[in-house]
Amino acid sequence: CGIVGYNGKNSVTDLLLDSLELLEYRGYDSAGLATMNANTGKVKLRKCAGRVKDLRKICAKDKKISTCGIGHTRWATHGGVSDLNAHPHRVGDVLLVHNGIVENYEELKDHFMLHKDLKSQTDTEVVAAVLNRFYQGDPHEAIRKTVKYLKGTFALVIMFTDQPDVIYAIRNVSPIVAAYNDNGTMLASDVVALGATADKYMVVPEYVIMELHKDEIKLFDLNDKPVEADMIDIDWDT
Ligand code: GLU
Repeated sequence: CGIVGYNGKNSVTDLLLDSLELLEYRGYDSAGLATMNANTGKVKLRKCAGRVKDLRKICAKDKKISTCGIGHTRWATHGGVSDLNAHPHRVGDVLLVHNGIVENYEELKDHFMLHKDLKSQTDTEVVAAVLNRFYQGDPHEAIRKTVKYLKGTFALVIMFTDQPDVIYAIRNVSPIVAAYNDNGTMLASDVVALGATADKYMVVPEYVIMELHKDEIKLFDLNDKPVEADMIDIDWDT
């Protein structure tokens, strides 16, 4: 339902929680976030059924600062409302949040024989497992191969645990917007969640791989050719 991601100089946990709260008006049943520490490569995954304020309580125990992370508010479509079904999902090296519905997830489970990789009942975790199957150190290759198999709508935002300084995203139908300023780069499912970080944003084109680095956003088509996206002015008064 709601997605946020940030990679920059600032501490990420409160920033992501604040941004998720800006998306609460859309409705949701669970919330979660994953952060990575670029220096140590350490991953923290926190999620729960309930409100962003419940997630905030869980995260309050985290003292270590991370500057790269992704967050999600879930509106369950496949799999009940539970801590386990909340996003992000982690399978092997892959951390994933997802908006939308992957219609052929049962077929994919059988095709790739993923049953033993899965802990939840969601369509999303199947995508994480497929990404992990295809991931051999090249994120673009894994993303390209995975999206070829997906039927349905998706905004996928991905971190690979051995690439602690980049966030990847790709979408079909479900929206992703992105923005940057001197402190870092940010993505979200809705412009309102970009908050005060930006006065301009881009709409990520469909089937384009986005890389969110600390100081720049890069876009590539599925042949790995760089793509440009127009920046649109945000008028916060309207
Ligand atoms: N289909 C996914 C799920 O049920 C994502 C739902 C959403 O967009 O929040 O977990």
